[in-house]
Amino acid sequence: MMRTAHTMIALVVNEGHALHHVHDRGYVESPARIAAILRGVSQTGLFSRLEPRRFSDRKVKEVHDPRFVNYLRRTCAAAEPGSSIYPYVIPIRNANRPPRDLSLRAGYYAIDTFTPLSRSAYHAARGAVSCALTAARSLLQGYRLAYALVRPPGHHAERRAFGGFCYFNSTAIAAHYLSAQGKVAVLDVDYHHGNGTQEIFYERSDVLTVSIHGHPRFAYPYFSGFADERGRGAGVGYNLNLPLPERVTGDEYRQALARALRRVERFHPEFLVVAFGLDPAKDDPTGSWSLQAEDFKANGRMIGSLQVPTLVVQEGGYRLRSLGTNARHFFQGLWHGFHGRRPGERVSSRRRQPECLPHVPPGRSSGASPCPHGAQP
Ligand code: ZN
Repeated sequence: MMRTAHTMIALVVNEGHALHHVHDRGYVESPARIAAILRGVSQTGLFSRLEPRRFSDRKVKEVHDPRFVNYLRRTCAAAEPGSSIYPYVIPIRNANRPPRDLSLRAGYYAIDTFTPLSRSAYHAARGAVSCALTAARSLLQGYRLAYALVRPPGHHAERRAFGGFCYFNSTAIAAHYLSAQGKVAVLDVDYHHGNGTQEIFYERSDVLTVSIHGHPRFAYPYFSGFADERGRGAGVGYNLNLPLPERVTGDEYRQALARALRRVERFHPEFLVVAFGLDPAKDDPTGSWSLQAEDFKANGRMIGSLQVPTLVVQEGGYRLRSLGTNARHFFQGLWHGFHGRRPGERVSSRRRQPECLPHVPPGRSSGASPCPHGAQP
C-alpha cells in the first residue's frame, strides 16, 4: 500500500540513547526497550522516519528552572565516565541553601533515590528533548500523527526535579512548544502518574493535563496522582487525574479512557500530546494491570478517533517481550482511528477520499498542510 508522506506517522528516534545504560540491579529502564519497540513498529509500514534536529537549551529552560538545567549539565559533565551519582542527602528544610558540592546537591533536585546522574544521562535526556521537539514540529509541517521514540522517559521530571528514570520532561517541553500555536491537551496513559507534567502545567488553562494511572496509594510516585488534584489558580479544572485500582482489565481501562477523551474533546485542543507508557501491559515488571495487544489497539483507535493532530512521546513500559507487539497494535489502532478506518479493515474497501484533509474537522488543521491524499491508496 502506498501512502503519502503526511498520511504516515512521523517517527523520530533518539539514536544516542544507548550510551545511557544504568547497570544497577532492578534498573529496568534499559536501551533494549527502544530496539524492541522499533522492531515492532517497523513492521507496520505506517511510519516515515525523520532525522532529529537539535533544539537549543532555550526550549528546555522555558519549561525547566534554568538553575536545574545548568545543574544537570554541569554535574553530568563532571561525573567520571562510567560512574553514577545518586542522591545522598535530601535537604528539604533549607531550600535557600543548596549543598555546594555538585554530587551532594543531587538530592536537592531529586524526587527519589534510584535515578542516577551520569555523563550519558544528560546527553541521552537532552537528545530525547530534541527528538520530541522534532516530532512536534512535524505536526506544524503537515503531519497529522508523530511519534518520538525516546528514552530516558520524561513525565516524572518536574520543573526543578528529576526522578523516576526521568531527567527532562520531553512530553511537557513538546506540549509547551505546541501551545504557542493553540490549545494543547496532554493525555498520559503511562501506568504511573505523570507528576512532572501535572506540576509543570498545574496553573495553566491553555494546556489540559489528563492522566490515567495506578492509584498513588500503591503506585509510584506515591505522592501525586490523586483525583482531587484539579489545578491551581487559572489552571483549576484543567488537570484531571483518573487513578485506577491495582487490578484493571482492558475493558475497565477503556471506561477510564473514554472518560478522559470526553474531557479532552470538551477542551477542543488544536493538538494532543500522548505520554505513551506501555507499562499498563500484562506482566510489566513495574505495573499490575493486564492489558494485551488487542487492548492497545483499541486504545489507539479511541485516541485516534478524536482526529486531533497527535504527538506520541514514549514514556515507560519495561516488559521487553511484549513492548514491540503492544506498540505496533497501538499505532495501528491510532492510525486507523484517525483516518476513519477500523483496524484490520481493508483500506481498498473504502471510498476514495473526496477532498483534501476530509478527516480533519474545520479549524483543526494546523495550517501549512499540503494535501496528504495525492497518492491515496
Ligand atoms: Zn511508567
